[in-house]
Amino acid sequence: MKEIDGAPESNFIRDIIKDDLANDRTGGKVATRFPPEPNGYLHIGHAKSICLNFGLASEFEGTCNLRFDDTNPSKENQEYIDSIIEDVHWLGFDWGDRQFFASDYFDQLYEWALELIRKGLAYVDDLSAEEIRKYRGTLKEPGKPSPYRDRTVEENLDLFQKMRDGEFPDGAKVLRAKIDMASPNMNMRDPAMYRIVRASHHRTGDKWCIYPMYDWAHGQSDSMEHITHSLCTLEFENHRPLYDWFLDHIDAPSRPHQYEFARLNLTFTVLSKRKLLQLVEDKHVEAWDDPRMPTISGLRRRGYTPESIRKFCDRIGVSKRESTVDVALLEHAIRDDLNTKAPRVMGVLNPLKIVLTNYPEDQEEKFNAPHYPDDPPAMGSRDIPFCREIYIEQDDFMEDPPKKFFRLAPGREVRLRWAYVIKCQDVVKDDAGNVVEVHCTYDPETKGGNTPDGRRIKGTIHWVSACHAFDAQVRLYDRLFLKKAPGAKGRDFIGDLNPDSLKVMDDCKLEPCLSKAEPGQHYQFERLGYFFVDPKISSDTKPVFNRTVPLRDSWAKLVRSGKAD
Ligand code: ATP
Ligand code: MG
Repeated sequence: MKEIDGAPESNFIRDIIKDDLANDRTGGKVATRFPPEPNGYLHIGHAKSICLNFGLASEFEGTCNLRFDDTNPSKENQEYIDSIIEDVHWLGFDWGDRQFFASDYFDQLYEWALELIRKGLAYVDDLSAEEIRKYRGTLKEPGKPSPYRDRTVEENLDLFQKMRDGEFPDGAKVLRAKIDMASPNMNMRDPAMYRIVRASHHRTGDKWCIYPMYDWAHGQSDSMEHITHSLCTLEFENHRPLYDWFLDHIDAPSRPHQYEFARLNLTFTVLSKRKLLQLVEDKHVEAWDDPRMPTISGLRRRGYTPESIRKFCDRIGVSKRESTVDVALLEHAIRDDLNTKAPRVMGVLNPLKIVLTNYPEDQEEKFNAPHYPDDPPAMGSRDIPFCREIYIEQDDFMEDPPKKFFRLAPGREVRLRWAYVIKCQDVVKDDAGNVVEVHCTYDPETKGGNTPDGRRIKGTIHWVSACHAFDAQVRLYDRLFLKKAPGAKGRDFIGDLNPDSLKVMDDCKLEPCLSKAEPGQHYQFERLGYFFVDPKISSDTKPVFNRTVPLRDSWAKLVRSGKAD
């Protein structure tokens, strides 16, 4: 058994597969598929399904196909196909030459529809969509048969051919399976198999004006690909009898089985492609890959790694019970991963100038500091230049601080990370009374931040040399939604958007080694978080740093307190 990222947690689907193999129900084979509809970009929920399908295939030395479920041409396009391919590859999975499209099977599906008509198990219905809904009945009342239900086989064959030939307008007729209008399962009350839609398909062009419904396409596609375990989310549980009925009534090349698991829901996040599309189209975000989006491409631009997403999917597990995962767990996964990967550096986001009045005007010196203080050889080190003027974070100075403020304040001392202890002597204010500059003295005896006389300095702050600082744009992200369950209790989810989810900081001062930062690199800015050089908007000379996540880890805190595991 192959394992990705450590030992897999057990789950009920793995148990089913083991049992099937032990009892030789699938000829010793495990074949899964990931079947996205190319009508949007993939999101973190899809990652759960991808990790599950590809993960199980690899664990049992089977195969996993990538199959585009492209049966609804009016909403699908090539851009989505390309992004899906890129995202699944980026997550670390490969399907070799097993890339398929449901549209590849349109001819075969049509043949099987003819087979059902000939067996008296499908008919052409002239009722309108509205009438079909009325005739279907309710959960309490059985449906009524359509007046067209008992058409002869010849008539049905003739009408279905004419549907295909474009002789009827859109919506004028449908082909329905003839099952049971009184079934307690509404999906079995003569479900539609084909509808007439004049829409150009991104692969088949104008060859077809009838398109198969999801239920009619899915199981048959599984069968053609010799899928053994067809995994889908719980909302398809009530479709399983139909999945089975279709396969039992055609001459199917293989007999796959469907299993359902609970979809991923995340707090403070929407995971519906329809809603994500609305965010893009109505310009609440820049694009599908906006770093605030829960899409794979958005998470990638934000600075998430494939390892962190796979680890997250592994930790949340797979079950049959609907639940909502705390988004802090996802944030925990990326911190955990970057902790050992991201070099430590210093950057000041809201600069406040400090002048060291006793430091010689033309003097400069350098401090060599490791990129990874806990294990200095791991990532090497860099020289940090120092001079008479430096920047610190505005937040790290208070003119009138409370007692427990251990950073810089009039008359107080603070340690500059890797450099010296400084003491605040004076402030310079503008006409409005804002502090614009702080005058300090440095203690030459404290080189490297040590205090040979043993006096205690409680606060250590980050800083950047004003003479050497590198100017860059930094983008800070907050949750896209203010509410734990956006759009709950009948609210419009748009109303729950966080108006301050993006803060663009144009006046940031970074230590000079960052001028060599390349798109796609990760850093930890000490005390501020993990940052990622945005590959889309950075140029060679002007990197843009996205904050992937701040350092404070509320999930780790919950774990320590025993409230989470
Ligand atoms: P959405 O509801 O977001 O529009 P979808 O189910 O219509 O998604 P598909 O492209 O059909 O999107 O999904 C491809 C596969 O990914 C399906 O097998 C689906 O069950 C699975 N999937 C989609 N969303 C989630 C989720 N939140 N958690 C787990 N699996 C998901
Ligand atoms: Mg779907």
